[in-house]
Amino acid sequence: MTRTLISRVWLPLAAVVAVVGGATAGTAPAFAQGADRFNDSHFHLTNYVQEGIGLRQFLAIMGERVGRSTLFGIPLQQQWSWPNSGEFAPTYYLHTDAPLYYYSFTDAYIATAYLALPEADRRRFDPMITGFNPADMYAVDHIKRVLRTFPGVFSGIGEFSIHKEFVSSKIAGETASLINPALDRILEFAAESGLVVIVHNDIDMPFGKVDTDPVYLTQARALLKRHPKATIIWAHTGLGRIVRPVQVTADAAERHPNHLQILESMLTDPALAHVSFDISWDEVAKYAVSSPEVVARVADLFNRYPDRFLFGTDTVAPSGPQPYYAVFDLWEPVWKALAPDASRRIRQGNYERIFDEGRRRVRAWEQTAVK
Ligand SMILES: [Zn+2]
Repeated sequence: MTRTLISRVWLPLAAVVAVVGGATAGTAPAFAQGADRFNDSHFHLTNYVQEGIGLRQFLAIMGERVGRSTLFGIPLQQQWSWPNSGEFAPTYYLHTDAPLYYYSFTDAYIATAYLALPEADRRRFDPMITGFNPADMYAVDHIKRVLRTFPGVFSGIGEFSIHKEFVSSKIAGETASLINPALDRILEFAAESGLVVIVHNDIDMPFGKVDTDPVYLTQARALLKRHPKATIIWAHTGLGRIVRPVQVTADAAERHPNHLQILESMLTDPALAHVSFDISWDEVAKYAVSSPEVVARVADLFNRYPDRFLFGTDTVAPSGPQPYYAVFDLWEPVWKALAPDASRRIRQGNYERIFDEGRRRVRAWEQTAVK
């Protein structure tokens, strides 16, 4: 979260709140007792150059407001290419044209940081395996090796990416795909072991055209349906910085569903009952709070399917409480429009249900697999 983004998204919103609610811009969000608490289903401890904050620092940020959190690095390392950026050391994938490559050591790093904590603190985290190449038939062997090397640590795999704006095309080697059997092997093993899956897959191309179906939806749906026994969280509901919610004009509304209608068609499909959606990333929040009408439609969908959405921050190594909590606070208009029970499930309950089950099943798999 950058300052620019805060002013672009939050300030116009604050202005709306000021008009509608009589509050003044900059007023701290007023949440009911406990309603600002959450578990974080999407958190990166380290960034694209494998640097970040320590777990002690993160625990200080979590305080009492955040009970539990997922824990992952980023499976990709941004190369610092001297011929490309010279003295400038890039820390983000948009900083340079140099490629990204899979950095498997991230899993050992995350496990080691977790294991250094006292038991009581460990219980608050669900570490995730990410350091595999989803286009590699051997990826699943890496995942098993991590579980055997660090038994008792990991609850799931991800966030890993298949289609991701700007990123997929920068990764050295073969591009990941939803129809690659290497990915099926990974999801088959997730079903067998109970590993919770967090997958990032843009639903559409960047700046998708109005009145067209999103390009990756058909493949994504088919993939998810091939693995009904895996517990899968589709990160960001398939959206990105410039992968916008599908736009449909009134004339085409009968032929093409919009983003919320696409989500609803998945939520009502019994063959996709194993799929949930995380609403992490400030880039996703910006769409959800873009107008009072959208807030009302989003809140209505959440209220009707409260078991299928999880809040996460998608912050990357936040420097302190301000950038960390800003993502939650962006959602304030939606939180306020939710039924209390739906809000509690999306902030806390769904996380507990899904990750408790993941922990239990992965520990059981390890019992049989780790000699
Ligand atoms: Zn993501």
